[in-house]
Amino acid sequence: MSAQIIDGKALALKLREGIAQEVQALEKDTGIKPGLAAVLVGDDPASAMYVRNKKIACEKAGLYPQEHLLPAATTQEALLALIHQLNADPKIHGILVQLPLPAHIESKMILQAVSPEKDADGFHPVNVGRLVEGDPVFVPCTPKGVMHMIDSTGVDITGKRAVVIGRSNIVGKPVAMLLLHRHATVTICHSRTKDLPAVVHEADIVVAAIGKPAFVTPDMVKEGAVVIDVGINRLPDGKLVGDVDFDRVKERAGWITPVPGGVGPMTIAMLLQNTLESAKRFAKKITG
Ligand code: NDP
Repeated sequence: MSAQIIDGKALALKLREGIAQEVQALEKDTGIKPGLAAVLVGDDPASAMYVRNKKIACEKAGLYPQEHLLPAATTQEALLALIHQLNADPKIHGILVQLPLPAHIESKMILQAVSPEKDADGFHPVNVGRLVEGDPVFVPCTPKGVMHMIDSTGVDITGKRAVVIGRSNIVGKPVAMLLLHRHATVTICHSRTKDLPAVVHEADIVVAAIGKPAFVTPDMVKEGAVVIDVGINRLPDGKLVGDVDFDRVKERAGWITPVPGGVGPMTIAMLLQNTLESAKRFAKKITG
């Protein structure tokens, strides 16, 4: 039987409508409009498109977007000065620094300069620590979106075998941590995992975050599994595909996310959600 498709576009739209209503209510009650500052250094077309899409999404949901488009030659000192200025700006509740940054800038230093209280992407070590402790403040957007998508299936995560393929700091590790906190038994696979297909075959829930087209094939997938495809790969013909061989795996999985229209739209919705939650925390601090 063919898998049920987890429609990220539809889920994200519903979330964004809810966020827009909450943004309106917050502004009405407290006068605070959630503000998100996006910082882009250089003119990488993909990064510029991501920042533009985030700005449009902010505007549609009624948030206050602030864009900082800086030339590629921007010095580390100038970028740090901007981050400090945004940290102190009461109109801003979320800051995102679009990665990758140019090679002459130390990304780690910049991400650590963002106030942990405005760290909309959840990449600051303080927020990573909070997540590991099981008491997160900002959850990274893509992993947060992945959890929403799994929850949308109605599958109870508790006690399930989950396999995350990929161990990056922005996707694989935080997804694994979130699944663990929801009482899944979690295995993380990476490029040195032995007999990866057999490990993946054990999983009731598979999250693929590798960056390799059609890496996950039907023989690796347990019948009825939930398969979440985080990968975004552009083929030579320009087509966008994920890390899962969608057409074939969907005949075996119970639920599956498409690419495009899967995790991608959820990531932006979660960014808005993180900024809204941050603005609510600021409002609470002010009003007591
Ligand atoms: P990274 O390149 O940082 O990490 C990739 C991971 O995959 C690494 O841990 C690597 O293992 C593992 N890997 C690579 N090749 C293999 C292999 N042959 N077998 C097993 N594991 C392998 O990628 P990201 O986590 O940043 O992104 C992953 C994918 O998700 C990309 O396609 C990216 O574009 C996409 N993405 C999508 C987002 C969205 O919003 N939908 C957001 C962020 C990312 P090792 O550590 O051993 O090298």
